[in-house]
Amino acid sequence: MAGIGTLRLVLGDQLTPSLASLRGLDRDCDVVLMAEVMQEAGYVPHHPKKIALLFSAMRHFAGELAGTGVHVDYVRLDADGNSGSLDGELRRAIDRHRPRRIELTFPGEWRVLEMMRAWQAELGLPVEIREDDRFFCTPARFRAHADGRRQLRLEFFYREMRRTHGVLLTPDGEPEGGQWNYDADNRKALPQGLSPPPRLRFLPDHITRDVLALVRRRFSHHFGDLEPFGFAVTAAQADAVFQHFLRHGLARFGDYQDAMAEGEETLFHAVISPYLNCGLLDAKAVVRAVEAEYRAGRAPLNAAEGFIRQILGWREYVRGIYWLKMPDYARSNHLDSHRPLPDFYWTGRSGMGCLDAVIGQTRREAYAHHIQRLMVTGNFALIYGADPAAVAHWYLAVYADAYEWVELPNVHGMVMHADGGLLGSKPYAASGKYIDRMSDHCRHCRFDVTRSTGDGACPFNFLYWDFIARNRGRLAGNPRMAMVYKTLERMDGEKLAAMRAEAARFFTAQAAGAEPVPPPSGPPQLSLGLEPPS
Ligand SMILES: Cc1cc2nc3c(=O)[nH]c(=O)nc-3n(C[C@H](O)[C@H](O)[C@H](O)COP(=O)(O)OP(=O)(O)OC[C@H]3O[C@@H](n4cnc5c(N)ncnc54)[C@H](O)[C@@H]3O)c2cc1C
Repeated sequence: MAGIGTLRLVLGDQLTPSLASLRGLDRDCDVVLMAEVMQEAGYVPHHPKKIALLFSAMRHFAGELAGTGVHVDYVRLDADGNSGSLDGELRRAIDRHRPRRIELTFPGEWRVLEMMRAWQAELGLPVEIREDDRFFCTPARFRAHADGRRQLRLEFFYREMRRTHGVLLTPDGEPEGGQWNYDADNRKALPQGLSPPPRLRFLPDHITRDVLALVRRRFSHHFGDLEPFGFAVTAAQADAVFQHFLRHGLARFGDYQDAMAEGEETLFHAVISPYLNCGLLDAKAVVRAVEAEYRAGRAPLNAAEGFIRQILGWREYVRGIYWLKMPDYARSNHLDSHRPLPDFYWTGRSGMGCLDAVIGQTRREAYAHHIQRLMVTGNFALIYGADPAAVAHWYLAVYADAYEWVELPNVHGMVMHADGGLLGSKPYAASGKYIDRMSDHCRHCRFDVTRSTGDGACPFNFLYWDFIARNRGRLAGNPRMAMVYKTLERMDGEKLAAMRAEAARFFTAQAAGAEPVPPPSGPPQLSLGLEPPS
């Protein structure tokens, strides 16, 4: 019996009708394969909300494709005979359909690319891996950008992207407003009385309710609350989230991009990364729409530019670095940090107000905004000296938008400085003073942010100086760290020793699995380090 024409694989983060591997589809003789597999859902303990989002979005996407007359072969997680792996499901589908060729779209993870290359070598039929052109920059283009440069810096790459794609440029090709970057205008704390817009949520339909029941049965042991579940699961709903942001969030996005506030989980952020990353939203359309808001006078330049920089700049830049440096990047550990991640990253019980707020929100929502990830959980992991691989494992597991291509460079490069400064010019290390300035977490904290040693001293303070002191050999030569090391040199030796002893007690307590317990009174309060992100 003759088989089909082409078998076209669509992965869970490829839910885009114009996807490369769907192009040229022949409804009469091609089949689209989609599969929910245990290997992908469980290779890290993904947040139950993330698994539910993806399975529900996959089922909706499959239904929409089938509605246009496409033959979709959809394998559910609990289907009889589900092999549990992508490899197994592709091979089973080949047995079922006997295709003449296979079409794939470039994946978001090195591990999956290796699997696809093995298919090319082993399956005995043509297997094409098409470029994922939902991104602005291909891995090859990024490699060309990186070639011959001693240092990679976002700013140069970002300008190149703005020029190449004609974004926020004057008719002469110059940056709108005369400047490429308005980051300096994007660092205000949230003033009292200013209320961020409520988050747009959706009631689960029958497809999502089925998925929620499945996830409850199979993944309730993972970190994170499955319900209430309000994520968008279709392209139309994801677009509604984005339109809500354009109307209610964008104009203030720039000013309060770095702010944090107790009980305010999303502030003026868009909360669209889960949808961009799984394909429900198109990054190119998002950038164009934000530029149009600026041109129509509905959003100031610092907001539009700040937002576009995140997508056209950072999102593309981290992806470029991922594909340039994998697989070695995942093993990078420039600061030689080896401590296990403290248990409280999973329990949310550190006793520190900021950490418990961010981890608690992460447990409930599978979401934290950038500054929470960078300056609270990330900063703590950095100054504590946690093993970068353990930190990466945590971030990949707990956020609904986490895929290795974007999570790993943010963790190893931006947060842990594990790549030795390839992605960012200096570590984003800060004491409690930064958190106090950018948030109200310290107000109700049981630790005292003004103290660095003794009763109730804020662990961010003594860990910060311990981090600076123990990494002197690796960081003191960095011109961007010169001020900090000057302060360290001027610091009274006894004060430093007292903070380092405090840090040593803290490490011992964590190794013993204890919550941080304030030690008995010690020397008086000390000066604090302050290193804001730039
Ligand atoms: C340690 C760490 C881990 C992270 N892991 C992820 C991850 O797994 N997946 C992910 O999408 N983002 C990750 N980020 C980046 C960023 O925190 C999220 O993209 C952002 O918080 C998503 O929320 P939002 O949609 O409200 O973003 P907004 O603040 O509204 O920004 C708009 C968009 O810009 C993009 N963006 C912003 N910053 C970054 C960045 N640093 N890298 C890549 N894209 C960016 C996102 O697509 C985001 O949706 C991480 C950041 C850190 C510090």
